[in-house]
Amino acid sequence: MQKPIVVIGAGMVGVSTAIWLQRAGQRVILMDRGKPGMGASYGNAGLIAQWAVVPVNTPSLWKDTPKYLINPNSPLFLKWTHLPKMLPWIAKFMSNANAADAQRMVDNLIPILTDAVDQHKSLVRDTPLEHWITNSKFSYAYPTHADFKHDAYSWDMKRHAGFTPTVLTGKDVQDAEPILGPATGCLAVLEGQGHITNPAQYITEVVAHFTAQGGEFLEAEVQDFTKSNGRITQIETAIGPIECTHAVITAGIWSKDLMRKLGLSIPLETERGYHVIYKNPSQMPDDPMMIAKGKFAVNPMDMGLRCAGTVELGDHHAGPSKQPIKLLKRYAAEVFPALEYSETEEWMGFRPSTPNSTPLIGEIGDTGIFTGFGHQHVGLTAGPKTGRILAQMITGDAPNIDLTPYAPARYLR
Ligand SMILES: Cc1cc2nc3c(=O)[nH]c(=O)nc-3n(C[C@H](O)[C@H](O)[C@H](O)COP(=O)(O)OP(=O)(O)OC[C@H]3O[C@@H](n4cnc5c(N)ncnc54)[C@H](O)[C@@H]3O)c2cc1C
Repeated sequence: MQKPIVVIGAGMVGVSTAIWLQRAGQRVILMDRGKPGMGASYGNAGLIAQWAVVPVNTPSLWKDTPKYLINPNSPLFLKWTHLPKMLPWIAKFMSNANAADAQRMVDNLIPILTDAVDQHKSLVRDTPLEHWITNSKFSYAYPTHADFKHDAYSWDMKRHAGFTPTVLTGKDVQDAEPILGPATGCLAVLEGQGHITNPAQYITEVVAHFTAQGGEFLEAEVQDFTKSNGRITQIETAIGPIECTHAVITAGIWSKDLMRKLGLSIPLETERGYHVIYKNPSQMPDDPMMIAKGKFAVNPMDMGLRCAGTVELGDHHAGPSKQPIKLLKRYAAEVFPALEYSETEEWMGFRPSTPNSTPLIGEIGDTGIFTGFGHQHVGLTAGPKTGRILAQMITGDAPNIDLTPYAPARYLR
């Protein structure tokens, strides 16, 4: 029997890679130590955020960070106990927060983000899963028009990527989204976007489709790699070794631990994020939104109204903090003053982030081991395109974009 390609990690990036490899006629084993879609891909905001080309580390971060860290109402948090360990990453991350590097990061993100709705549709085309991709508008909600204008850098970059908003003010705001109270005085609306109403269920069903088409899903932890003459020959797992021709590391933040098994130290840290679900809400927005002041997104989902966002720099072994959840709830109460609900559910997840906010997509030298991680705030969005690119690289089909910015080689010197 043909030896398989093993894809490690069944989040949005891994399942997309497995599907595209399967479509290219490869034998694929998709592995996860748990059920599919239970990592960062579980609780994200569900936005197919094709406009989200502006990373967190833009030039304004230098003046915003000190304010944010001392202001308890700001959406940026730091787990101070992790600071010493994280300092080298923070230094690199901040060093990229200048005009030239920010422009480079935006230009790196454009090719993997801006056609994401079409990429998700391609992933599920001609399958029973097409209903998962919901067409929608997407709005940024600001307290005032002046706040929208204050966000000019970010909107210039979005326009550069092809996304120009229609701006609503006054009564038009509440006419467009009646759930919004008077704390929102300006909406910047993007047409032609998309979202997912239950990311974990979407991923679970993509994996079920993959196995129905002959793919294999194994629930087991990958522990190590065995190479011969510099090339991967087998994966060591909790249920024994698995021979393979190639391996793809799509393990989100935990890719850092797997890279360490290969003797490679990658500057990958987590921007921890949180969600609150308001169950049985009395109101829902028609379309997803970003509440700009609180830096969280709101998505009308199957299980309720999900508010997801905030950034807490910290580590991926520590449990959740209370402050980000409190903040989400406070801002949600401010912008949705009439919202009633039966109960809330809370969650924390680990965005996997590199210092230049650009994922690692490519082969590690000539090892047959590929990387597909580091998608920070946009892994749900960029997963299908990343998976397609990885499948093309592995099967020798040249993708039609310049892959240099994503090459893992930048961290392997
Ligand atoms: C609050 C929040 C809101 C967000 N909102 C959005 C959004 O609206 N849109 C968007 O595009 N992105 C969003 N993101 C970011 C997005 O969720 C992530 O970028 C994305 O989920 C990363 O996907 P992944 O497949 O790389 O990793 P993950 O989904 O984390 O999957 C990694 C998988 O690897 C498995 N694994 C790890 N180690 C091993 C091992 N040794 N052996 C076997 N399996 C292993 C894990 O169990 C896990 O299932 C958000 C993130 C957060 C936290």
